[in-house]
Amino acid sequence: MYLVKSPNILRKIYGKSLCWEMPKGNKSIYLTFDDGPVPEITPSVLKILSDFNIKATFFCVGENIQKHTDVFNQILEQGHSVGNHTYNHINGWKTPKNEYIENILKSESFLHTKLFRPPYGKITPAEKKLLKKNYRIILWTILSGDFDAKTSKEQCLENVLKYTNEGAIVVFHDSIKSKEKLLYALPKFIEHFQAKGYNFEKISY
Ligand SMILES: [Zn+2]
Repeated sequence: MYLVKSPNILRKIYGKSLCWEMPKGNKSIYLTFDDGPVPEITPSVLKILSDFNIKATFFCVGENIQKHTDVFNQILEQGHSVGNHTYNHINGWKTPKNEYIENILKSESFLHTKLFRPPYGKITPAEKKLLKKNYRIILWTILSGDFDAKTSKEQCLENVLKYTNEGAIVVFHDSIKSKEKLLYALPKFIEHFQAKGYNFEKISY
């Protein structure tokens, strides 16, 4: 069970120091890809982005970067933004604060970024307070649902077509389990909004 559009109540509980959407005014959409890089899917995502000539933001898992440095370097070479998504995808609600911060910093030696996204969107107020000194913490506006076994590829596409608007931060996953849905929905999604005059931008610090 997941909510495609992040509800206002959740944004209020979490407070304003987290970024749920980008400013409106320039007809932009912000694509983000979580949990990579992996050779099975990330290069295909990069090819799609390159074909459409757009930039996006990749929230990378540290151990995947270490295992697949060549794929990570391709992301950088193509001019996309990268963000920290912890070293091994841990849950901020279930991890003691200091351990959580250390885990994030473990990626810092090879992932130089000021963007952070907590896995599962789960972060405690104490963790948030510490992290926001050094990071811009990015949540999302729209979840494609590509990670969900019960969501079909058609539903995944409908989720992003129906709810995306100007300034939206949209989440997909460059992970093996999301591969089929992602490769189906992503090009159609980009095509749809480009035809309506939208731009796709990466997130900067
Ligand atoms: Zn994740």
